[in-house]
Amino acid sequence: MASSAATLPSKMKAWTYLEYGKSSDVLKLQSDVVVPQPRDDQVLLQVVAAGINPIDFKRMLGMFKNTDSPLPIIPGYDVAGVVVKVGSQVKKFKEGDQVYGDINEKAMDHPTQFGTIAQYTVVAEKLLALKPKNLSFVEAASLPLVIETAYEGLERCHFSAGKSILVLGGAGGVGTMIIQLAKQVYGASKIAATASTGKLDLLKSLGADLPIDYTNQNFEDLPEKFDVVYDAVGQCERAVKAVREGGDVVTIYGAVVPPATTFILTSNGAILEKLEPFLESGKVKPMIDPNGIFPFSETPQAFAYLETGRVTGKVVISII
Ligand code: NDP
Repeated sequence: MASSAATLPSKMKAWTYLEYGKSSDVLKLQSDVVVPQPRDDQVLLQVVAAGINPIDFKRMLGMFKNTDSPLPIIPGYDVAGVVVKVGSQVKKFKEGDQVYGDINEKAMDHPTQFGTIAQYTVVAEKLLALKPKNLSFVEAASLPLVIETAYEGLERCHFSAGKSILVLGGAGGVGTMIIQLAKQVYGASKIAATASTGKLDLLKSLGADLPIDYTNQNFEDLPEKFDVVYDAVGQCERAVKAVREGGDVVTIYGAVVPPATTFILTSNGAILEKLEPFLESGKVKPMIDPNGIFPFSETPQAFAYLETGRVTGKVVISII
C-alpha cells in the first residue's frame, strides 16, 4: 500500500484553507500541493487516516491566529500512517513502520502548516509511536490528541489508585478517554460522568459507576464530593463546587476558576508508548462515533458533524 521513497510523488491531494473562516466556506481540496520533505528529526508519512478535533475548526476560525503558522494551512493534528521516508537523525522508525501520533507538539503555538488531512505529512519522530497491532489505522487515528490530553490532565491533578473522579463531558472525544484511563490505568475508586440522556449507557460501558444526565440533574448539587473533577466541557465555575476540600480540579476549556488549573496539551509519543499495553490488551478502546468515519472526499461533512458538538467519541477521516 505504501509508496517507497524511490516512488514518492512530488505533488499530493490535501484539504487546505487560504483564509480563516467557517469550514463550510474555506476548506478546499487541492490536488497539486507539494509533498513536504522531512527535516533531520522528522519522518514523512503516507497518511492512512486522520482524526479531527475541535481545535481544528477553532484554528480554522482564526481563534489563535496570532500564534498560528502562516496560511495556507492543511488542517489535522491526529494521524495514523506508514513511514515512507526518514530524516538523517531519525532513530526509532524505518520505512514501512505503521505509526500514529499528534503531529503538533504545542497545540496552539505555531502548529504546522502541513497537517494530516492530506496524502502525506511530516512529523517529528518524538511525537509518534508504533501503532498498536490490534488497532486499525482509523482506530489509531482517533486516539492521540484526546488520549494524551486525558492522560496529561489526570497527571496534573495527581490522580492515583483509590481516588474518585467526576468527568464533565464524559461522552466526547476527551471524556471517553478520561473515564477509561481513570478506571483501567489509574484504578479509580469511583467514576461519575455527565452526558445527555441518550448517552448514559455509553458512560457505563466505558467504566462510569455513576452516569449523570445533565439535562435533569445538577452535578454540583450531589451530596457527594469528588477527589478530582476533570472538566472537558467548560463548566469550571460549577466544577469547583463538586470537588472535596483539598481535591483537584482541572479544566481544558474556557474560564478558569480557582482552585482549578488548566493546561494546553503537549503532544508526546512517549505517552502513547506508555499506554500501549492498555490499548493492545483492549482494556482501553478507541471510541469512534457510530456515524463518525468519513471518506477523504467528505472532509467538509466530517467537520460539519464535529461542529455540532454532539458527537460521541471521535470523528475520523479515512484518507486511503
Ligand atoms: P467533543 O466535540 O468530542 O465533545 C462532544 C461531546 O460533548 C458530546 O458527546 C456532548 O455530549 C458533550 N457535551 C456537550 N455539552 C455538554 C454538557 N453541558 N455536559 C456534558 N457533556 C456535554 O470535544 P472534545 O472532547 O474533543 O473536546 C472538549 C473540549 O476540550 C473542546 O472545547 C476542545 O477544544 C477542548 N480541548 C482542550 C485541550 C487542551 O489541551 N486544553 C485538548 C483537547 C480538547 P451530549 O451530546 O450528551 O451533550
